[in-house]
Amino acid sequence: MSLPDFRDTGMSKKLLNKLVPELEQAREKMGRKLRFMEVCGTHTVAISKSGVRSLLAPYVDLISGPGCPVCVTDQSDIDHMIAFAGSEDVIVTTFGDMMKVPGSTSNLFQERANGADVRVVYSASESVDIAIKHPDKRVVFLGVGFETTSPGVALAILWAEKQKIGNFFVYSANKLTPPAVNVLLQDPDHRIDGFLLPGNVSVVVGREGWMDVEKANMPAVIGGFEPVDLLSSLYLLTEEMSKGRRQVVNNYKRVVKEEGNTKAAALLGEVFSPCEMAWRGIGAFPESGLRIHHRYERYDAALQIPVDKPVTKLPRGCQCGEIIKGKATPFECKLFGRACTPQNPIGPCMVSGEGSCSTFYTYERHQHKQQPLSV
Ligand code: SF4
Repeated sequence: MSLPDFRDTGMSKKLLNKLVPELEQAREKMGRKLRFMEVCGTHTVAISKSGVRSLLAPYVDLISGPGCPVCVTDQSDIDHMIAFAGSEDVIVTTFGDMMKVPGSTSNLFQERANGADVRVVYSASESVDIAIKHPDKRVVFLGVGFETTSPGVALAILWAEKQKIGNFFVYSANKLTPPAVNVLLQDPDHRIDGFLLPGNVSVVVGREGWMDVEKANMPAVIGGFEPVDLLSSLYLLTEEMSKGRRQVVNNYKRVVKEEGNTKAAALLGEVFSPCEMAWRGIGAFPESGLRIHHRYERYDAALQIPVDKPVTKLPRGCQCGEIIKGKATPFECKLFGRACTPQNPIGPCMVSGEGSCSTFYTYERHQHKQQPLSV
């Protein structure tokens, strides 16, 4: 099948006609709507944009988990970057999405307006170029992202090492997705019936990377991002649940291998080591972050550039933490669409184009009244 086939309306309708009775049956058996969680911002957007969420709303709550790297970056990490930006000889580089994420006292966009040298880049390697052009400055790249983005950061560090660049640093807030899913599963009140697992992360970790989900007896399907991918994955997930099968199904075989991308995994293993890391809304938990390995610690901004950070204060009234855990929807936040909009975001879920609040604001705000998740 080619890409247009995965966007085919006829095929999507056929799948929908198969899926709805299956969901109806499952809803009847459970005595309530189902709850499936996706842990990928790209899925959040695809589900909203395609209309799949609203089409299936009578049968299933499709809830978003910790899948947007901007949203899960802990506020203390944002504060740390703002503190770097306050150093005279530091150039801060970051992805555009991070510029407007509110810290406790400011954001990087405001810091730039106040005179700090903060630059938007498209890759970590671009930051190495900036370091080469400015040998009198220290360039700190804010590393955010999951298994798909982190190999690029690892490559930039290796490239800087090869070229003996001494003024390039990374502040790593890079994270690993499977441990976050496991932490959600350990919560006795998790209210999740199945996981739609991210196809992009799975390209790196493979189906094998999700074995803890299988051990936790939770139905899960690895899915792609086109309408046919989404509907067929949700069909398989419902089927797994109804038939009591508990294996991770790979429904994205055109790109995801059983063992994943071993080269990318080896690259991550060379440059990073797993560490405890704080996730917004979830807190700190072991082996969920990527710390720069001691072999490359001269590139670790957290170690090499001491700064004073302000006391971290979370935005009042913002429910990003509950949304990230799948315990609330953006519509339940009193600030949604009123005090908090993409133009004036109060929490990170409204900043990134893949954040739940921003996605709901863009695609669904006119379709829904304020309503909580079904119970
Ligand atoms: S609408 Fe804004 S304030 Fe409310 S949870 Fe989302 S980001 Fe936070």
